[in-house]
Amino acid sequence: MSHSHPPRIPSVPAVNPPAAGSVGAASVAAPPVTIVTDERCLAYHDAGHPEHPARVRRTAERLRETRVLSVAWVEPLPVTREQLLRAHSPALLERLLLPRDFDNDTPAHPEIRAHAERSVGGALRALQAALAGETAFSLLRPPGHHATRDRAMGFCYLNSIAIAALEALALKAGPVAVFDFDTHHGNGTEEILLDRPGCAFFSVHQFPSYPETGAASRGNAFNYPVRPRATRGAYRDALAAGLDGLRRFRPGIVAVSAGFDAFCGDPVGQGKLEVEDYRWLGIAFRELGVPVFSILEGGYSRELPELVLAYLAGLTAR
Ligand SMILES: [Zn+2]
Repeated sequence: MSHSHPPRIPSVPAVNPPAAGSVGAASVAAPPVTIVTDERCLAYHDAGHPEHPARVRRTAERLRETRVLSVAWVEPLPVTREQLLRAHSPALLERLLLPRDFDNDTPAHPEIRAHAERSVGGALRALQAALAGETAFSLLRPPGHHATRDRAMGFCYLNSIAIAALEALALKAGPVAVFDFDTHHGNGTEEILLDRPGCAFFSVHQFPSYPETGAASRGNAFNYPVRPRATRGAYRDALAAGLDGLRRFRPGIVAVSAGFDAFCGDPVGQGKLEVEDYRWLGIAFRELGVPVFSILEGGYSRELPELVLAYLAGLTAR
């Protein structure tokens, strides 16, 4: 545990002040991006673990100072047991309260269930914002897309994106698509959403790689595996194919598992994507013309704040 960094994430709703000077002010013409965060997500970590509080802290600082975007800061929603139980077993909810590690990647941090529930609440708040016509991104940790119905694994404890997708289904927000561009397959999301009517899962990821699933499509899960050490062009082609599949599904709302670990500088992933590829992804989602909300999954490089900023700039480009 480390509390050496004073939390600098705003804990009350606020909007970045307008940029000083006419040049900056002119660049803040777009409506604000709604960012969901909570400084309590900085309060846990294991030394040497790549899923580190600085990922969120530095990204929040970057978004605080940017004049490229106007940012409205909001907090996660409370989460009900009913919402959690749509995706997870009662046994997992109990297990998350025990001080026993899940695997080497997935320690039993103090209060981890509360942290994971706030990540879920962030996804639910981002969903709410998207349904209100806002561009929304949940900037919280832990990530969630590897968590299955019964099991925490791969840095993930509760599957925030699946829970939000199931909430969108319950709200009858139209056909619900989850698009996952993290470089690791969203095995938990696939398992939870598999064969559920009214929703589909699209994932572009390296294969073989952790967690060694997602080699092929099945049911309503559409997988676009990319070979290890694939060129940037090949990775972009797979993303484009996934986006084509997404468009054919004609979603009423899109929930994005935004993982930034296919970036060429990432210490965990082996992808070759560049900063501008994340802007391109943001533009592609905006051009769908339906509500879209995104949550942070992986992404472990020092450039994570720039990658998130590029993605949000694409989502709000005019
Ligand atoms: Zn990942």
